[in-house]
Amino acid sequence: MEALLALRTLVGEAVQLTLVSSSRELAFRPAATYEAFAGRDEPAMSYGLAEIASDAKARFVHGRMEAVAPAARTVRLASDATLRYDSLILALGARAKAAIPGALTFRDQREVPQMRGLLRELLRGSVRRVVFAVPSGCAWPLPLYELAMLSASYAERHGVDAEISVVSPAEAPLEVFGLEASALVRAQMTERGVRFRGGLVPASVQRDGALRLHFGGVVPADRVVAAPQLRGPRIAGVPSRWWGFVPVDAEGRVESLSDVYAAGDMTSFPVKQGGLAAAQADVIARVIAVQEGVDVAVPPPIEPGRMIEARLLGGNRTLAMRTRLDARGAHDPAGGGSVVPMRQPAPMHEKVDARYLGAYLAGRGVAARRSSNAPVGSREEDARARNGV
Ligand SMILES: Cc1cc2nc3c(=O)[nH]c(=O)nc-3n(C[C@H](O)[C@H](O)[C@H](O)COP(=O)(O)OP(=O)(O)OC[C@H]3O[C@@H](n4cnc5c(N)ncnc54)[C@H](O)[C@@H]3O)c2cc1C
Repeated sequence: MEALLALRTLVGEAVQLTLVSSSRELAFRPAATYEAFAGRDEPAMSYGLAEIASDAKARFVHGRMEAVAPAARTVRLASDATLRYDSLILALGARAKAAIPGALTFRDQREVPQMRGLLRELLRGSVRRVVFAVPSGCAWPLPLYELAMLSASYAERHGVDAEISVVSPAEAPLEVFGLEASALVRAQMTERGVRFRGGLVPASVQRDGALRLHFGGVVPADRVVAAPQLRGPRIAGVPSRWWGFVPVDAEGRVESLSDVYAAGDMTSFPVKQGGLAAAQADVIARVIAVQEGVDVAVPPPIEPGRMIEARLLGGNRTLAMRTRLDARGAHDPAGGGSVVPMRQPAPMHEKVDARYLGAYLAGRGVAARRSSNAPVGSREEDARARNGV
């Protein structure tokens, strides 16, 4: 979406744009954690792709891409239809894989019903101890911390006695954001009554519900909720590296292919995050715009060393965090960064730091403008959502 909107803005109507997607909807995945706790009558943050394409004066093709033929400059869809391209931007995301057998693997909106089921069990008292488990090699653990804190706050609001913890191979909570941010995250967790158990590598769930650990030991639990491990997509004709991710250069070009670009979770950078995906898309859009003869400055190439921004829901205040990543996707202590508890509610779509998509979603309905700072499901929050604050 970011690449499509950026290109249309930068090159005007001089180029024909086609959006191909296997789904008809853009489900705004950063809202998935919130949506598990929201009232049933609240609309999900989901947008019709045909409508977005139409707003961007692009053609929408609903279909699953199966192969790229770089020499012929065509893509083949599962329907056997082929589409020609001059430039191709791939943003196919990653495949979510369950890494902890027996756990509820929370991928995104798809697991909202199961998460709601777990909350009902908490209310009934048939579940008391819930462990949120970060598997090794998890590319973006932040949603799991949100789920843990939102669950604790839900239990407290309903007067339920629950024991909630986060188990992670990391030594400190969300350490990718640096020491200061991590300390604040820990403080928020403690305030919510969520225990952090670091330095433990989750393996699988036992018959009695407990979480078995690699290298020995178990953590008692009635239910385990886990983050997935991600794998790259399988598209014939597109090269892939470790775990199937696609290698790209600093301007988003797919290694060894001409005029084929890739952005987002499918690329080989170890951290998978929407703001990062959007920044990659912006660079690609500008590179293509320059090729089309448009006079725009190409922003600094995507490379390790860039700041990423994120917001963490679930505590008393949303935390706005910034960090600089090194080449391995770890926190670069020399790179600065910050963490600020937000005083004002912020629109949910701002959870992704995306220049063009952010502006576009800001212009859409109440669902896109839902507050991300008030306690989920509270009257205050509902009122703000209705008022579009
Ligand atoms: C629960 C959760 C919370 C998150 N919170 C945040 C957050 O707060 N901030 C943030 O910045 N990031 C967050 N992220 C990460 C962010 O959502 C992803 O990094 C981002 O969505 C990646 O975008 P993408 O375009 O690479 O992939 P996706 O968003 O996965 O989109 C890929 C699209 O390609 C389509 N597709 C896949 N295969 C094919 C095919 N073969 N042919 C045609 N179409 C195909 C899919 O249907 C999908 O629509 C969160 C992720 C999750 C799961």
